[in-house]
Amino acid sequence: MPTGVYKRKKIPATKNQMIARLRNLKKAIEANVGSKHSKETKNKISKANKNNPKLVGQRHSPKTEFKKGHKPESPFLKGMTPWNKGLKGLMSGSESPNWKGGITPFLRHLRTSFEYKQWRKEVFERDDYTCQTCGVRGVGIHADHIKMFSDILRENNVDNYKDAVKCDELWDLSNGQTLCEKCHCKKTKLDLKRNWGFRKTAVGKLPKKE
Ligand SMILES: [Zn+2]
Repeated sequence: MPTGVYKRKKIPATKNQMIARLRNLKKAIEANVGSKHSKETKNKISKANKNNPKLVGQRHSPKTEFKKGHKPESPFLKGMTPWNKGLKGLMSGSESPNWKGGITPFLRHLRTSFEYKQWRKEVFERDDYTCQTCGVRGVGIHADHIKMFSDILRENNVDNYKDAVKCDELWDLSNGQTLCEKCHCKKTKLDLKRNWGFRKTAVGKLPKKE
């Protein structure tokens, strides 16, 4: 290749460029919503598409067309009983193999409770809203229980809101630390690895692999 000549490379769009493109597209679509073609334009389009087999209505051949009385090949026919009808109480709720003893409403209640919010606020204020591992400040910070929340609940046999409020270990400020999202994710991963060998989690989903 002679000097000074470079092969043109296609540079993939960055995320921001993609967002800008989509925004422009949206704008263009919005600008056209509600506007109608003139009669002249309509005629033009109609003329251009008249002999286009892709746009003119096509029919199945008489052999394959939908005949009167023909039944679609669906397993769900009218009048059929669904497989799970009447099974409520047999396979659902506490009878389900996935039942965790009705702990979800309690955990949700706890995490949105005044006590939890207060604890979180105090942890944040003590740490000056700064991630204790990497020093990120203010954005996307979490208050983390150094000893896992679920472990505390299990060890103190707490399974309802009243007991949780009384459980001092749960609201111990020295068991709290401010972490950014990334560091929190890493920490949770380690906690889970130690406790469950990555298989199961007592609270929510497994964190995403990095
Ligand atoms: Zn961090």
